[in-house]
Formats: sequence, C-alpha cells, structure tokens
Amino acid sequence: MNFQTVIGLEIHVELNTKTKIFCGCKNEASREPNENICPTCMGYPGSLPRLNQKVVDYALKAAMGLNCEIQRSTHMDRKHYFYPDLPKGYQITQAAKPLGINGQLYLEKAKKTVRIQRIHMEEDTAKMMHRKESTEIDYNRSGVPLIEIVTAPDISNEKELLEFLEELKNLLSFFEISDLKMEEGSLRCDLNINVVDQDRDIKTPVMEVKNLNSFKGAVKACLYEQRRLLETLETGCELTKETRGWDQKKEETKTLRKKEDSLEYQYFIEPEILPLQLSEGKVRNTASRIPELPQKKRSRFKEQYDLPDYDVRILTKNPYVADFFEQTVLVCYAPKRISNWIMTQLLSEMPRGLEGFKELPLKPKDFGKLMALMEGGKIPKKVGEKILKEIIITGENPKRVLENRNLGPITDEQEIREIVKELINKHRKALQDYQKKPGKTINFFMGKGMERTGGRLDPCKLREAIKQELLLINQQKKEE
Ligand code: ZN
Ligand code: MN
Repeated sequence: MNFQTVIGLEIHVELNTKTKIFCGCKNEASREPNENICPTCMGYPGSLPRLNQKVVDYALKAAMGLNCEIQRSTHMDRKHYFYPDLPKGYQITQAAKPLGINGQLYLEKAKKTVRIQRIHMEEDTAKMMHRKESTEIDYNRSGVPLIEIVTAPDISNEKELLEFLEELKNLLSFFEISDLKMEEGSLRCDLNINVVDQDRDIKTPVMEVKNLNSFKGAVKACLYEQRRLLETLETGCELTKETRGWDQKKEETKTLRKKEDSLEYQYFIEPEILPLQLSEGKVRNTASRIPELPQKKRSRFKEQYDLPDYDVRILTKNPYVADFFEQTVLVCYAPKRISNWIMTQLLSEMPRGLEGFKELPLKPKDFGKLMALMEGGKIPKKVGEKILKEIIITGENPKRVLENRNLGPITDEQEIREIVKELINKHRKALQDYQKKPGKTINFFMGKGMERTGGRLDPCKLREAIKQELLLINQQKKEE
C-alpha cells in the first residue's frame, strides 16, 4: 500500500507574565492550591476582565518570530462549553480574528516549511486532580495566559514532528516568554493525525490525540496512531472522528470522545473587553526588538567561529548558552575548545542541562579566564577540570583558585626527577619491556606521573625526565 500520514498540531504555550491574563492575580507556580485567585479568575458574575497588555506583547513577539501576518484590529471571543475547570461556562479566546495568521516555520533537516495557520491569545483553565473518591480543582491556573499555535497539516512523519517541536521550542526560547516545560504543562501539544491510502484514494478520519507531555511521548503517540490507522485502512473497518488520549504508562491511545458528542461552542465577541487596536508604531517597535533567532544564529556561528553543525545546534539551543559561548570567546579566542568544554565538562556538571545556563553562578568572563590559562599552557587539562568543578558552583575567579589551592603546574626539573625516580622504583616490572618497546614504557610512566600529580606535571619536562632516567638505568645494567 502506498500511504501517507498527515499531521497537524495545536500547541498551547503558557506565558510567563507576572500576572494573569484578565486580572491582577500572580501568575506563578504556587505550593498551595487556590492561592492566586480572585472573583475574575473564579468567574464570579459581575467581575470584569481586563486584558493584560504584556500578554499582547508576548503573543505579538511569538507571532512575528513565526513569520505571521499581524491582524492589527482584532478582539476576544467567548467559547462556550461547560466543564468544572471552567467556572464561567465559557473560555475567553480569539476565534474569528486571531492575532497572527499565515505564518511558517522552516525545518532545516526535513528541508520543508510547515505553515502556521494561526496564533491566538486565550486563558488557561483550572487544573483538575482526580483522586480515588473525588476530584479536586485548583484554580491557580485559571486565567493563566496562553498562546495557541495551530499548524497546517504539513507534517508527514514522526521525524518531522520531532524536528518541528524542537525547532519551535528553540525559537520560542529566544523570546523568553515561557518556561516551555512540556512535563510541567507550560508547553502542551495535541496531534491531529490521519492516514491516506494513495492507491485507493481513501483516507481515515482525523484523530485528535491529547495528553502528550514530552517530545518522546508525542513521537510514540504518533507512531502508535499511525499503525492503528493503517491497520484499519487495510481491514476496511469503519472509523469515526475521535478525540483520543495518550496513556503514557501503557503507551497506547484510547478514546476520550467520539464525534457524535462534539461540542457546539456558540462563539460570540466578548462584550466586556474592548476590541484590540494595535498601532503601526507598536508593531514596528516590536519587530525591531526581535532578537537574532536560532536559524540565523546557527549559520552565523558556523561561519564566524568555524564550528561543526553538531556544536552549533547545541550552542544555539537557548539564548543563555549562546550568550555564554560568545562572551567566553570574547575573553579567550578559542571557539572550538570552548565549545567542547561547554558540551562536555560544563554540561556534565549541570543537573538541568542546557537550561542551567540561565542561572549559572559561573560567569563567562571567569570561564574565559580559565580557558585562557589552558590555551596559554599555564595549566594542563586535568587541573582545568578541577578548577572548573569549583568555580562552576562558587563563581570564583579561576586564577585565585589556582593560587590558593596549590593546583599550579610543577615545572621544577629537580622535583620532576624525584617523582620519576620514585615511580620507577615502585613499578620495576614495567622496565622489563623497555628494550623491545621503549615508547610503551615511557608512556606508561607518563600516565603514572600525571595520575600521581593530578595532571600538574609539565608533559614535555616529564617525558624528558623519564627518558633520561630510563637511559641511566640501562647504562647501569650494561656496566654490571
Ligand atoms: Zn484573579
Ligand atoms: Mn485552546
């Protein structure tokens, strides 16, 4: 069978404004349920919503980053449905005139453009927690600002799906408008998927898959649903349009709602919020403050620092790591070495991975000084690693650590000679091979010397000392 999979996405992004979208309640993770609430976000009759202008700013940035046309004259709508997590009985959203339309995001690996149909602003609902015998509702999330991004059905497989999600997250991270944590629900994605049999020209109905809370989950759900739809195409079984949920534990999708109970939302213009008029000046001003975005940054990094694609991808994953890299390079011009250290030594010490660059105590200026110490041959790599382990937590100046901790290099030839003698005495057995394989023996003692001193020995001087000492022993043997 010659088939094609067709995937479109709906993505909800929680914005990290200080306050909620229609009231002054704090928009932040709270330990206590129902702490950040007021009559407006509880949906009490008579309370009046006011649109938070920061939400408009943030949504505008995202829409521009995704190359959308901006609808300067727009409004909010009511979307009616009843659910316990929605106290008003309707959600305030944008239906008829979304803020952004006709955008696009290019996928470099798939070499394909995914069209963005729309971006709009709306409020989040409360959070329901299902216990054994009851359901509890936390209204802290009620009224948290969201943007919803809807793509055209331009994605054809799980690889493109993953690339799109990564690219979108990467892009949005440069606007700093959201935490973008899928596990914590600040980035949520629904999949619309169907399969087309191109030979017989038939297609399955579209399935909507919800509850995806990781990129991995989204890929697995996509593959699962693709297989399920293909099977039904082959067996000719009748399907109807469904909303399905991804069960992360069982790794399968299951029916949540069938098309028959699809909702009629009865949209109308929200009468309590004035229509939105964005001045040309505001739009232009926002456009002028759009930062350099990942795709452009990647090609610049590649060219300017002569780095491989792999490095460039990691160094541009978010604005914090990109800035950290560039500021370090300003202090010590060794781009590839710095890139290597960021990707290995630095990342391995950071529990939150690349996210951690946002609040790293170590400043690029000091990391650069450490790099310069190594570049200039003042300290070996091993010592650099030791210093890094300290300053990554304390944010101290690496030069001071070097002076205070006795970590400096051992360059005194007499001292090195003593160390070598001691090592040879300790490992007499290693001398047996010396005649046949002198290089191997020398390397063996090189290793031991570095091990013993934590890499503080000057390698050239060490090699020289070992050679001389071995020569001496050999001569003594011959004389005997
Ligand atoms: Zn409130
Ligand atoms: Mn929505």
